[in-house]
Amino acid sequence: MNWNTHLQAALAARAQAQAYRRRTVRRAGTPPPYLESGGVRYLNFAGNDYLGLSRDAAVIAAWQQALADYGCGSGGSPLVCGHTDAHEYLETQLAGWLGYERALLFPSGYAANQAVLLGLLGKDDVLLADKFCHASMQEAAALSPAVYRRFAHQRYEVLEQQLAAAQGRRVLVASEGVFSMDGDKADIGRLKTLCRRYGAWLLIDDAHGFGVCGPQGRGSAAEAGEQPDILVVTFGKAAGLMGAAVLCSHTVAEYLVQFARHLVYSTAFPPAQAAALSAAIGRIQAADDLRAKLQRHIRCFQTALAQGGLAERLLPSETAIQPFVCGSNESALAAAEALRSRGLYVPAIRPPTVPAGRAQLRITLSAAHETRHIEALVKGLQDAV
Ligand SMILES: *Cc1c(COP(=O)(O)O)cnc(C)c1O
Repeated sequence: MNWNTHLQAALAARAQAQAYRRRTVRRAGTPPPYLESGGVRYLNFAGNDYLGLSRDAAVIAAWQQALADYGCGSGGSPLVCGHTDAHEYLETQLAGWLGYERALLFPSGYAANQAVLLGLLGKDDVLLADKFCHASMQEAAALSPAVYRRFAHQRYEVLEQQLAAAQGRRVLVASEGVFSMDGDKADIGRLKTLCRRYGAWLLIDDAHGFGVCGPQGRGSAAEAGEQPDILVVTFGKAAGLMGAAVLCSHTVAEYLVQFARHLVYSTAFPPAQAAALSAAIGRIQAADDLRAKLQRHIRCFQTALAQGGLAERLLPSETAIQPFVCGSNESALAAAEALRSRGLYVPAIRPPTVPAGRAQLRITLSAAHETRHIEALVKGLQDAV
């Protein structure tokens, strides 16, 4: 088979399985909670902009000012000349706030996870990860020479057996703080206890907890009163921008600066973005009102769905991610389409992103929504499914 035949066959198989994916082209000028595409304005329940900060005036002003001060790009890898005082300030701000010796910036959460796992894990080491960990971690694990074992989602007794079996080796345990598709929270206290007992390190990827959970939005580990050995926070979700940071000890940070290829061989993100992120962190710290509003939306949504007899379709989640289970790809696509015809934009998430046979609508709520938007969503779900 030549290249074209091979690729076309793969595309045809995807389409046949109702798993073909398409991108929606969003138009400018429709702020959250709306999204405009194809000339239609939808209420958006698909994004991860949980606090609505992508449109925050103070963040935008900080970005514009720094753009005038620094220009557009950073001009180099952090190791060459791309690391500016705006980046340095943001790292210091994050480390101090989150209680770590150091923070290291990365262009994306994907790069941060790959850098940490591929940087730290050698062939004598062991990675034990929750089965539902993000693709960026799974891919790094597959590329890494380390021994890689997954434990069934949140089955910490299985993790304990794996830890016992790995005694005598260096072990890193990895989990998300808030799971990105199901919205449930890891038991970080239990994970930390197990890691302590077996002398392993704990890595928490808190992409969906950062900004939303815990005191001042410090995330799901702070909410649990724990400090993972390595914490990954990403800025494409509640912070409303892009980029990521790895929070860690001085030793880990120095090691990554020497050996993490995603840091050494990749351009630092723009300095103006760093300045905007510093402003976004300030907004997150002061956003108790937005977090409370989001919590009200979550309760309102769950109560209204229960009253409508649909509670059993929701996976148990107390976070902004409210998965509504459909089962087959066909029924998830049909439900998403029916919602869309009612002006509600909700994505159908299909395998391999979620387990086979468990396609779902991944509904996300945001402080940018108002109560009437949540009511419209509930009404739409009642009519559409
Ligand atoms: C989104 C996400 C990432 C990737 O972050 P990007 O900055 O979008 O590359 C990593 N981990 C989890 C759990 C995520 O949800």
